[in-house]
This record gives sequence, C-alpha cells and structure tokens, in this order.
Amino acid sequence: MIRSDSLRKAYHTLEAVRNVSFEVQDHEFIAILGPSGCGKSTLLRLIAGLEQPDSGTLQLHGKDISSPRHFLAPEHRRFGMVFQDFALFPHMSVAANVAYGVNGSRSEKQARVRELLELVGLPHLAEKMPHAISGGEQQRIAVARALAPRPQLILMDEPFSNLDYQLRVQLRRDIRRILKQEGVAAILVTHDQTEAITFSDRVFLMQSGTLVQTGNPEEVYRFPRTLWAAGFVGEANFLPVQKAGDQLETALGATPRISTGTPKTLMVRPEEIRLEPPDSAGVVGVVQDVEFSGPVKVLEVELPGEVLLSVHASPQSQWSVGDSLSVIAERTVMYDSEGRLLEAS
Ligand code: ADP
Ligand code: MG
Repeated sequence: MIRSDSLRKAYHTLEAVRNVSFEVQDHEFIAILGPSGCGKSTLLRLIAGLEQPDSGTLQLHGKDISSPRHFLAPEHRRFGMVFQDFALFPHMSVAANVAYGVNGSRSEKQARVRELLELVGLPHLAEKMPHAISGGEQQRIAVARALAPRPQLILMDEPFSNLDYQLRVQLRRDIRRILKQEGVAAILVTHDQTEAITFSDRVFLMQSGTLVQTGNPEEVYRFPRTLWAAGFVGEANFLPVQKAGDQLETALGATPRISTGTPKTLMVRPEEIRLEPPDSAGVVGVVQDVEFSGPVKVLEVELPGEVLLSVHASPQSQWSVGDSLSVIAERTVMYDSEGRLLEAS
C-alpha cells in the first residue's frame, strides 16, 4: 500500500529522518518504536503529509504522494489520525464528533455514526460532550472519528500514553481488535516496547532518524540486529566474550567457536536463564538479590569474575540471598565488536 524510498527530513542541521525505506501492506499493523527524539513523529508526519521530505519519495498504491517536487495534501491522502492529546472538538457532542468526517446523506451519516459507536463499545455516550467522558472513552471516540470516512490507513502517535497503565493495556487490545475488524492498515508510533510488540504485525525499530531493524515482534525480540536494539526492545544481560583456543569463554562457561565472525559480546534475556541446584551442570553462581514483582521473581546472580546477571525465575521459586546455584543459559545471541548480530543459539 505504502512504499517509502530513502525518505529524509532535516530541521536546519538536525536530520530527524535519514534515508528511511520501507513498505506497508494492506491491512498491516506497524509499530514505529524508538526512544524519545529519534524521529518517530517526524516519520509519521511525513506519511500523513504534514511534512514534505527534503529527499526521497513516498508512494501510495504505486503513485507518488510525497517527494521534493510532488506533494499530495494531507486531506487528499484520506488517512485517519489519532494523537496523544484527546483532540475531540470540545463544543460538539460525541455523535457530532464522529459524524464530522462522514460523507453521504443524513440517514447514511446517522447509520455510520451508530455503527462506529457500537464498534468502539460506546453507543450510550452519543449525546455526551467530550469533557463529560473519561480519557479512555475520549480516545475510543477519537478512533471512531478517524474511522468515520472509511480510510485505508490509520496513523496514531502515542495514542495511549496519557492513560494510566491498566486502561492503556485494555484500550490497546480493544483498539487493535476494532481496527482489525474494520480492515484498515495502522501505523502506531510509540516509545513503549511492550506496546509495540503486542500491537503490531511488524515493528520498525528506529534510532537517531534511521530504521535499525524491521521485522515481526518475535524476530525483533529474539534476534535484535544490534546490541543497542537488544537493550531497547527488552531486558538483556551483556557478557564479554574471550577466545580461548578453539572455544569461546564467557562467565556462563565455554562454547564452541562460531564460523560467522569474532564475537565480542554475548546477550542473554533474563527469562532465558535456568537456575538449578548447585551440583547440576552449568556455572556456579550466588544469589545477590531477590525481588518479587508479581509474575516473576527477579534475581541478581553473581557469576565468577564478579559478573552480575539478571534472571527471571518463577514467582514460586524459593531462592534466597546467599544461595549457591547452577546457572544455565538456554538461548544466547552473539555480537561482534561493532555490536552487530553474528549468531543466535
Ligand atoms: P520522536 O517522535 O521520536 O520523539 P520527533 O520526530 O518528534 O521524535 O523529533 C525528532 C527530532 O527532530 C528531535 O530532535 C526534535 O527535537 C526535532 N524536531 C522535531 N520537530 C521539529 C521542528 N518542527 N523543528 C525543529 N526540530 C524539530
Ligand atoms: Mg513523538
């Protein structure tokens, strides 16, 4: 549906978006994920047509919509938009807000508004004014309004970040279901990795204006292309790797050399480490800290060489500070001296 080729946008000397290329398929859900200031909103604004690129092109169904020479105004792109601050028209009722973008006769309008309010589960709020409904309800109405003209693509910039945690999780699920039901494609901008990987079919991971990695959430989580990506999309332990004859040595023990390059750093996720009684296979570690956090116990385990490892153990596990145990890494990912992915076990 959308194709971006080497898109670039600078503000004075600051390159907010650099050389960004991607495709989005019909009905696909994309999350643009990255830290604050990395250029996510600028990229979304380029797609929306609220900014014009300095170079590169953007195509919609094979036709140029943005390039330095050619530019289709945002209202002619007909994408739906939802932003962080609940931008409903304050002087209009909920129904009037939703009706705003609907074309057609009065009865067609009414039918579409009713259908959309049903879709977002809020038909009883039709006559309320925006100030009289909650933040979560306002965001649902904003989604209904964005869907009203039957766009093929919805653009959302941090739409859940002004809501408290539980509401955010619930709303994310509901809106995902609603958008899938409507059959639109969606691009969600977020700095929250959990939100990105639970919402999207594909994650576009962004750092300093560039796309570091694109892939389905599992790929991006399990095979981060760089050390930075590994640390950004989830919790990670990083251990130095040394060569020792035809073996590789880390604080987690020796492993065979790999053929793809010279590893410098091993990455292991806290939930991919198994703890066993001390006389089992594996490296001996000592528990330094135990933190109960509900679904997991977060253990800090010291390995030989004063290496500290964060481990997610079952909440029922009974390890205490000072216990010795055996530490086994179930899956590891190797990176070279430039922080590039070499191999995953
Ligand atoms: P994000 O959404 O990832 O937080 P933005 O796309 O908003 O990042 O911003 C990327 C960079 O561009 C930031 O350094 C920001 O300060 C800068 N920037 C964004 N918009 C403008 C603007 N209109 N004028 C000047 N600098 C801007
Ligand atoms: Mg932003």
